[in-house]
This record gives sequence, C-alpha cells and structure tokens, in this order.
Amino acid sequence: MSKRVLGIIGSGQLGSLLCQAAKKLNIKTIVISDDENGPAQNYTDKFIYSKYDDKNKIREFINGVDIITYEFENIPISILKEIDKEKKVLPKPEINKIIQNRQLEKTFVNNLGIKTTKWAFIKTAKDVQQNKNLLPGILKTNTLGYDGHGQYVLNTLNDVKKNWCFTADYILEKRVNLKKEISVIVTRFKNKEIYIYEPIENTHKDQILKYSKIPADIKPSIFKKAQDSAELIANALDYIGTMCVEYFIDQEDSLLVNEIAPRVHNSGHLTINAFNISQFENHIRAVCGLKKENVKKIANAEMKNILGSEIQDYRKRSFETEEYFFDYGKKIIKEKRKMGHLTILKK
Ligand code: ADP
Ligand code: MG
Repeated sequence: MSKRVLGIIGSGQLGSLLCQAAKKLNIKTIVISDDENGPAQNYTDKFIYSKYDDKNKIREFINGVDIITYEFENIPISILKEIDKEKKVLPKPEINKIIQNRQLEKTFVNNLGIKTTKWAFIKTAKDVQQNKNLLPGILKTNTLGYDGHGQYVLNTLNDVKKNWCFTADYILEKRVNLKKEISVIVTRFKNKEIYIYEPIENTHKDQILKYSKIPADIKPSIFKKAQDSAELIANALDYIGTMCVEYFIDQEDSLLVNEIAPRVHNSGHLTINAFNISQFENHIRAVCGLKKENVKKIANAEMKNILGSEIQDYRKRSFETEEYFFDYGKKIIKEKRKMGHLTILKK
C-alpha cells in the first residue's frame, strides 16, 4: 500500500524540489527543519520549524506523517533512529550511519571490491607522519563535511601546523590528479527494482559543484563500470530511494569512488527537465512504495549552479524556451551559497 503523507526532514533546495515532485504525485508533505527561513516551506503542505531535539515538535511531525525521508545526511543518527521506531524512515538510518562517516563509508565500498582514493584514518599529527606516502593529500573531517567544509590541503608535512589540535577524527586522502569527475544517480524501489541514470559529468570550483552535463564525455567501459558499481552499492545497502555515487576518474582512467550521498543530489538537478521522471519524483515514488515507471530521457542537458550574488543577474534576465531557471528563493545571499540553478536542454 502506498503512503500518502510524506514527512521530509530538512528545508533547503533539495527539500523544495522533493515537495514539488510529491505535489505532482498528489502526495502531501510535512517538512520539519531547524532553519526558520528554509525555502521548502513555500512548497510543502505544512512546515514545522523546530530544533531537532524539540520533543514536542518532533511528536507533532511524527503524528502527521505516514513515512519519513530526509534531504541531507548529517542529521544525528540517534534522532533518526528514535523517529524510525514510530514511523518508517527511508533510506534506513543504518545506511546513514555508514555514509555520514568517511571511514566506514570507504571501508564499506572497498569491501565490495570497488576502488576509492587511497586513504588512512587520522587521529593525531603522528598519524599524518606515518601516512606521509598519502601526501600531497587532503585531510577531511571524518563526519559532517559538505561542499568542501572541513577539508584541509596538505602538500607536505610542514602543512601540519604545530599548534594544530586534532579535535576531531579525520581521514587523509591522497590527492588524485583528476581527469574528470562524474556521478551516477540510482533509484531503488521496495521490490528491489532499480533505475540507474546515465553518468553525469561534473565540474567543481573551490570544492563546490559548478556545472554538470549529460552525456558525460567518458569511454563506454567507464560508463558501464560507473553504473555497475552504483548498482552494487545500492543493492549491498538494500537501499530504498534515490542515492548518488560521486566518482573521480584519474589520468590513467581509473574509476574511484569519491563519496556516496544517501539522498537526491545536486548533479541530478538536470533530471528534472532532461527526463520524464526526475531523481526527485523517483525518490518519492520509491520511499512511498510506488512502483518503478518507465524512465525516458528527453534531451541532453547542462546545469549551472548559481552561487551567491550571481543570482541577482539571473533574477533580472529573460530565458529561452530550452532554458529552465530555478530560484531557490533564499532570502539571504551569501558568498558560495547555492541560490539557484539553470538547466539548458541540448539537441
Ligand atoms: P564534500 O563532502 O564536501 O562534497 P568531497 O570529498 O566530495 O567533499 O570533495 C569535494 C570536491 O573536492 C570533490 O568533488 C573534488 O573536486 C575535490 N576533492 C576532494 N577530494 C579529492 C582528492 N582526494 N583528490 C582530488 N580532488 C579532491
Ligand atoms: Mg562531494
């Protein structure tokens, strides 16, 4: 039986786009968020502003919904598990436990026989010294990173500052000489059926996604391997919903998993216009127990992220018929903040 009121934790652009997809399917949404200004409140049937430890508000949320999903992976696992005791949370909270922890995530992927960047778990400066073969590298906080937050470039051991206190757990990753970055978005349904979108080619600037396009300019063998690995990961996690695997391709054409996102993904925004069923609609269908529909590509596409004050020009511009402008309606413009995106359909 399909569920009819969907709870969404988080109210950013991903939450907004999920709400819009739910509306298309006549599924009601309730969004809970600790951001009073979260843009998803403009698209949801009900918005609950709450700190994630406010028991009364969380109770109101749980009582109002049939099933729950989330738009970002950094929600404390204990809270997800509490909620899950009463109303099913999809993707399963245990999946988040793995993915929000870079050490567990990479170990999980490596155990499936899939390559990642070379990496080591780091607690102290001495650990960095013992893994100096990974330099030049990037030190990343083991948990709670996004859009390059919590990342430090280490070219040599001298970059480990004397007064640096290692207050968190980290992983050190060898820096990959990147040829390309791609991502594969998959949606897996309750009956284990799966839809795998074609690989998307991504360009980052300052560790933030700037530009995505399909088709990705990659060899057929990499196209297939990227889809196969994403399928293997989704199956191994017994995943339900839409997820994304981010990959690096190095100069030798090795395909390495960078990270997994247990949610809809920024690189998949172009699926809204380039496919009959977007990553968002597929996510809603999967978590609400609907069946897989026939997904068809409509056109090639490129997507530009609009960051910070760039949005001001876009708000004044007019657009061609093949251009689709999305303004997330965020009130406060901050440098590097994702404010909107533009998708352009191509022949
Ligand atoms: P986040 O969790 O912030 O998305 P990522 O680990 O995906 O962090 O890193 C963001 C971006 O930084 C990547 O998409 C890539 O462009 C760059 N990057 C991260 N790790 C490496 C690496 N080991 N080698 C080369 N580039 C990297
Ligand atoms: Mg990333």
